[in-house]
Amino acid sequence: MSKEEELECSFCGRKKPETSLLIAGLDAHICDRCIQQAHGIVVEESNEADTSELSAELMLKKPKKIKAFLDDYIIGQEHTKRVMSVAVYNHYKRLLQPASDDDIEIQKSNIVMVGQTGTGKTLIAKTIAKMLNVPLAIVDATVLTEAGYVGEDVESLLTRLLQAADYDLAKAEKGIVFIDEIDKIARKSDNPSITRDVSGEGVQQGLLKLLEGTVVNVPPKGGRKHPDQKFIEVNTENILFIAGGAFDGIERVISKRLNMKAVGYSASMSDDHVDHENLLQYITPKDLKDFGLIPEIIGRLPVLTYMNPLDAKTLRAILTDPKNAIVKQYKKLFKMDDIELDITDGALEFIVTKAVEYKLGARGLRSLCEEILTDAMFELPGGDTKKLSVTKEYAESKLSKSTLKKLKAVS
Ligand code: ADP
Repeated sequence: MSKEEELECSFCGRKKPETSLLIAGLDAHICDRCIQQAHGIVVEESNEADTSELSAELMLKKPKKIKAFLDDYIIGQEHTKRVMSVAVYNHYKRLLQPASDDDIEIQKSNIVMVGQTGTGKTLIAKTIAKMLNVPLAIVDATVLTEAGYVGEDVESLLTRLLQAADYDLAKAEKGIVFIDEIDKIARKSDNPSITRDVSGEGVQQGLLKLLEGTVVNVPPKGGRKHPDQKFIEVNTENILFIAGGAFDGIERVISKRLNMKAVGYSASMSDDHVDHENLLQYITPKDLKDFGLIPEIIGRLPVLTYMNPLDAKTLRAILTDPKNAIVKQYKKLFKMDDIELDITDGALEFIVTKAVEYKLGARGLRSLCEEILTDAMFELPGGDTKKLSVTKEYAESKLSKSTLKKLKAVS
């Protein structure tokens, strides 16, 4: 017997002539069949590990845990945080449901958030994606148009999600899409144009299937600029859609409905109990319909919630309390230059007062801090000063009326 023929697979014992391929290791051999079998085991194991990892991660996070995570980053908005925690929990429970034969299919819990701009809608979506470690695409509904018109097709939502997932299809299919300014694609009943409502109802129609769950051919690089690209099939069945919008003027719709109720027979809510300062809290799906969303869209966004306007107390807390609060960020920036930054309560109150006075909202807080601290961030690094104390007077001296007006214009 030649030396060649003596060689055998160290796993199954087959002699070399009985194998198509025998690969040598340091002091062992493996044949093609054993490699194939081993590969199968590896794939199976890693799939199991994937799903059990996912389920462990998600099942551990009960709604209360989800809410506690949100609390670290989002000030106030208690109602929305509770509603979102439950919706997200149910969404991922649905995703993990074993195939059963009881005919009960859990429907998607896509969400719509109504609230003024800058009240934290995007922040909530971002925080949830961060907590779940799933990709997030943030898309403005105003750029979407019906196929064939100038703008982006609705499929571009999924292109963005694929990009956010680094083109990992499995990850993208469990991701979150945040559609901002959904109110801007409402049908306008008083639209004087007799041409088709390009950016409105047609887009809503286009979104329907996506929201519900379907397989969509998605151009991976998006748009019409790359006509030759191969499409990727994306299943939206397990993608969570969160829509947000300011719905300017919807208070009128709500108030009208509430008034009608109050004069009606079953006036359960007398006018004394209505909080006219914050009518959004009474919002119902019907109000969205009256605003111009088509009923089918509303049906596919079954979880409806609202954001409270930010009062001075909330703005003050946003400056210092969240895990990555603006003030904490500036302190860190200064610390990198060995400078201790101290902002007095007086200065913080002053910043909040200006944000309220000039209606700058939460986004304005950051711009105000930037204006106040830019000079110091330019002058101090590399110098001898090791401590900067920002008092109300210091803040005042850095903010002129013209700067504030400028900030208001851009906010
Ligand atoms: P929206 O999407 O409602 O227009 P954003 O989520 O983009 O608003 O909010 C803008 C910024 O304002 C956020 O990045 C965050 O810094 C701050 N902010 C707004 N609301 C809150 C809040 N409730 N808690 C903490 N920060 C907030």
